[in-house]
Amino acid sequence: MDVIDKLRALSRDSRYDLACACGGGREEHRKRGPEGRWLYPVVLPGGGHTVLLKTLISNACSNDCKYCPLRSDADFRRCTLSPEEVAGMFINYLRRGLAFGVFLSSSVMGSPDFTMERINGAARILRRKYGFRGYIHLKVIPGASDAAIEDSLSLASAVSLNIETPGKLHFAALSRKKDWDRDIMRPLVLMGRLTGRGTRFSRVKCTTQFIIGAGDETDLEIMDYVYRLYGGMNFRRVYFSAYQKGSGAPGIPGERRAAADPGQVFLREHRLYQADFLARRYGFKKDEMVFGTDGNLRLDKDPKMAWAEAHPECFPVRLNTSVREELLRVPGLGPETVKLILAARREGKIRRLEDLGCTGKRLRKAEGYLIYE
Ligand code: SF4
Repeated sequence: MDVIDKLRALSRDSRYDLACACGGGREEHRKRGPEGRWLYPVVLPGGGHTVLLKTLISNACSNDCKYCPLRSDADFRRCTLSPEEVAGMFINYLRRGLAFGVFLSSSVMGSPDFTMERINGAARILRRKYGFRGYIHLKVIPGASDAAIEDSLSLASAVSLNIETPGKLHFAALSRKKDWDRDIMRPLVLMGRLTGRGTRFSRVKCTTQFIIGAGDETDLEIMDYVYRLYGGMNFRRVYFSAYQKGSGAPGIPGERRAAADPGQVFLREHRLYQADFLARRYGFKKDEMVFGTDGNLRLDKDPKMAWAEAHPECFPVRLNTSVREELLRVPGLGPETVKLILAARREGKIRRLEDLGCTGKRLRKAEGYLIYE
C-alpha cells in the first residue's frame, strides 16, 4: 500500500474518534472535507474554522473491545503509517494550504507505550524538524505510562483519551484485556492534574469521549461522570459517540438495540450533547437534570424543556426584569439570545422577541414560559 492507500483506510477508521476542536452542531463532528476523507473541516472552540489532517497511525490492534470495529479478532486489512510518513504528508498539505492542524490517534500496536512512541514521534518530527507551531491533537493510548503522557503533553495543543463507559463494571462487560482503573482512569486523572490551572501544561486542552449504547450504561451514570470530568478532573470537553450497528461483536447489547431501532442511539447521543451543554453553558447542576425511571434522558423532549415542565413554580419569567440566570432557564433561549435581551433592555422595554432575531420553533418554545413585564 502506498501512503495515500494507507491514509484512505486509516482515516476511515478514525471516524469513531470525535474528540477534537469540533463545532456545536449535531453533525459537525462527522463532516469530512472534499479533498479526501482524512482532511477534516472543524469549527474551533473560540470561533472560526480550520482543516485538520485526521488519521490513525495504525488500525492493527492487539485489544478486544467488543464495541470496536478494529478489535483484534475482526477480519479486515490492517496497515500502519510511520511517523515520518504522517509528518511528511501533513507538511505537504500544509504547504499547499489544504490542512492547518493534525489529529493523530491509533489502535494499540502491541503495547500502549510502543504506540505512544509512534504518535508522539510524528508530533516530534512536526515540531522539531519542520518547526510546526500550529494545532496538534494527540490521542493518549489506554494504559500509557506517566512518562509517555508527559511527552505527549509537551508536544500537543490538545490531548484526549476515551473514557468509553461510566465505571469499571460497564467497561469490563465490553473489554477483557483493558482494565478501566489502570488503563483509563489512572491516565485520565494524571492528564487532568498535569493540565490544571497554573501547571506547566495548562495550555493543553484535555477531552474525552463516551461510547453510547454499546453496553447497558444509563444517561444518569454518564452525566455523573461528565460532572466529575468538568469539575475535579479539569477536562475541557466531553464527547459522545453513538454505537453504530454492525461495528462491534455480535450479541452485545448495542447490536440488539440497534436491530430493534437503529435511529434511537443517535437521538440519545443528541440528548446527551444537550444535557452536556446545560452543564457547561447554562449552569445546570447534576441534581437538576431530569431522568426517567429507567435512568435515561427523555428522548421525546430536550432536557431543558423536561426541566421546565418539572418546575412550573419557576415560570413565567419576566423578559424585561428577570436576571440572566432566570432567562437562561427558559426553553428556546440560549446564552447568545439572553445576551441580546440584556443589551436590548438597556435601551428600553422589549415588546417582541422577534425583534431580537428569535423566530420559529425557538420563539414558540420560549413564549409559553415568558411574560413581557
Ligand atoms: S484498544 Fe482501541 S482500537 Fe483497539 S479494540 Fe479497543 S477501542 Fe478498538
